[in-house]
Amino acid sequence: FVRWPFNATQRKKLSWVQLAGHKGNFKAADEGSILKKFSENEMECFEKLRDDALLPFVPGYHGVVEKDGESFLHMTDLLATFDLPNVMDCKMGVRTYLEEELVRARERPKPREDLYKKMVEVDRDGPTPQEHSQRGVTKPRYMQWRETLSSSNTLGFRIEGIKKDDGTCRTDFKKTRKKQDVIQVFKDFVSGDLGLIKSYLTKLEEIRQALNTSEFFKRHEVIGSSLLFIHDSTGNAQVWIIDFGKTTALPEGQTLQHDVPWQEGNREDGYLWGLENLMHTLRSVVEE
Ligand code: ATP
Ligand code: MG
Ligand code: MG
Repeated sequence: FVRWPFNATQRKKLSWVQLAGHKGNFKAADEGSILKKFSENEMECFEKLRDDALLPFVPGYHGVVEKDGESFLHMTDLLATFDLPNVMDCKMGVRTYLEEELVRARERPKPREDLYKKMVEVDRDGPTPQEHSQRGVTKPRYMQWRETLSSSNTLGFRIEGIKKDDGTCRTDFKKTRKKQDVIQVFKDFVSGDLGLIKSYLTKLEEIRQALNTSEFFKRHEVIGSSLLFIHDSTGNAQVWIIDFGKTTALPEGQTLQHDVPWQEGNREDGYLWGLENLMHTLRSVVEE
């Protein structure tokens, strides 16, 4: 007799997907959980989130573990409760680097050839004449360029990657900038199922309400964090807040509004403005 070669658990393990970051940053863990390369900053965020209004929307955090001589943050695999999930990583905010990275690059510029090459690959005319001659661009310069190329600056969010249940995986959204293009990507992500878009909108509304009451959100500059959209063919649709690698506490007593323009020094991230635009974009998907 013919036997399907994978049981349900194995199938779920096989469908785990990483839509951003270095491949070596993640390891599989016990059933239903994953390991992310340790960062002091992200650990502190998870600990502070333990008694915050955002807790229901972030992956379960199970502490620091050592594996093969390296430290990892142990967290819940958000895909584990789905059968053949469709996944989208949407990076939030108008700015994707820290102000301190900008200051450092200005004081001690470290032009990088790998980033120069990535830039040229997308746009031969991206680098300035000086960058061409030194064959290098600094990290904030690369990040700023990506923000203007994508919808980060104009909409306050951008699509990083999508994996669909038919096995296709795309991360080539660097130039997806116009609202119309984003609408098209979302339509394709849900394969035209507007009910899913409505479910996602309900989730985003819940997230917005949680953000409005969160003490953590008020006191942190949220940079490079993503909303992870997940749905499957049963109609189950969820949105999670992930990646606190660059989410930084403000000095005691200081807070952010998250919906006003960034000017160097004010540390604003445009997170709420981006969420507003994202919800508006999804409403357009439903109405079109
Ligand atoms: P970068 O800073 O470049 O975005 P990173 O190393 O900080 O990358 P994350 O952004 O946290 O990594 O995660 C990368 C990808 O891994 C996400 O886009 C998502 O596809 C997947 N991922 C992360 N955390 C989880 C989780 N808890 N459950 C399921 N998938 C996850
Ligand atoms: Mg990320
Ligand atoms: Mg990160």
